[in-house]
Amino acid sequence: MSRSEDLYKRALQVLPGGVNSPVRAMRSIGRDPVFIERGEGPHVWDADGNRYVDWVCSWGPLILGHAHPKVVAAVEAAAAGGTSFGAATEGEVELAAEICDRFRSVEMVRMTSSGTEASMSAIRLARAATGRDPILKFAGAYHGHVDGLLAEAGSGLATAGVPASPGVTAAQAADTAIVPWNDPEALRAATAEREFAAIIAEPIPANMGVVPPAEGFPALLRESADVNGALLICDEVISGFRVARGGAQGLLGIGPDLTVMGKVIGGGLPAAAYGGRRELMERVAPAGDVYQAGTLSGNPLAVAAGLATLAELDAPAYERLAQTTAKLALGLQEAAGERPVRVVCGGPVDPWPPASVFPGLLTVFFSAEPPRDFAGASACDAEAYGRFCRALLERGVYPPASQFEAWFPSLAHDDEAVERTLAAAAEAFEEALG
Ligand SMILES: *Cc1c(COP(=O)(O)O)cnc(C)c1O
Repeated sequence: MSRSEDLYKRALQVLPGGVNSPVRAMRSIGRDPVFIERGEGPHVWDADGNRYVDWVCSWGPLILGHAHPKVVAAVEAAAAGGTSFGAATEGEVELAAEICDRFRSVEMVRMTSSGTEASMSAIRLARAATGRDPILKFAGAYHGHVDGLLAEAGSGLATAGVPASPGVTAAQAADTAIVPWNDPEALRAATAEREFAAIIAEPIPANMGVVPPAEGFPALLRESADVNGALLICDEVISGFRVARGGAQGLLGIGPDLTVMGKVIGGGLPAAAYGGRRELMERVAPAGDVYQAGTLSGNPLAVAAGLATLAELDAPAYERLAQTTAKLALGLQEAAGERPVRVVCGGPVDPWPPASVFPGLLTVFFSAEPPRDFAGASACDAEAYGRFCRALLERGVYPPASQFEAWFPSLAHDDEAVERTLAAAAEAFEEALG
């Protein structure tokens, strides 16, 4: 038995499914989990000593790659001075100022430890500010495992959701309306039917794979919120510090009322935040009456890692990340040849290659057409994607183990990492689709 097999056997005894978050189990690509031992730059090594080019990068946070020397040094220095105080520190003031400097719509932030907490708190604030309960989200969008957001479209009243997981109450799900992404008519109909506290959207959805907004849809989000009297919440947990210095909202010209941030903001340590206009954020306790708290919020190690990471993310860095992403995306599409595969790496998705590439994001869809919404993403050949991933892993390339996730190129991915991936992908496409 290999070390990985032994670890998985032990893990299954003490962790549900052997993991601490479902996608890691790799069930959707039909194999056992990879146990990672260490990472450096664009690479990870598993418990059996195999090296992989890592395109997951912890699902987004590691925009500088693994164990970046400046991040490691910042965390070491912070740890030596005490790991947590549950009190105010200088670092969190600096990080908040850095965020406000980058995001035009954000004047104040409150830090949390996870994106889930941040979106839950932003929704609470939106409900308090509007005096309304219902919220609107898009099918296939993910904003963390908040009860009320684990809802899917029901068959009854057009806009009232039903629980998407056992344990979510019918009442929580009913307060959530689910609308197809990129569907202006559905959005207009839903907002005409109910008064929402908030419309929450990933401006560049990346949790059904990357499904960019269609022309005009970002502007419609703002317009619909205004007409309805709802707040617009942009969930930039993935896109925030990845696609541009000022996030997807800067890139696409959206002015949200509240923004949810995470992943890159903690540089690989647990940190997230929500922020927005001063008068809204000053409703949050203790400035205001909306309660929200966290023992480890603004944790000194996470703040140090976040500051060290953001310090590297200037305009040339985003340019370089876009180039790496374009090279990988174009190479993957070329390696797929005539097979029904569509790499999505920017917007608008048609024609191929796209006129612009989102730095640091792409999805290899096993579909002849780029999906426009969750139904389109769900229609992809997930079995073939699974075969593709298994073949890549056998060849030392670590892709996201789900058709509904993004690849996350980092600034550590060099030409060699891309070349090695493309060589493996040519064989993997052959194995997956013949
Ligand atoms: C990952 C993610 C979250 C949840 O963040 P966690 O830190 O995993 O709780 C929320 N929104 C989006 C868009 C995400 O990708």
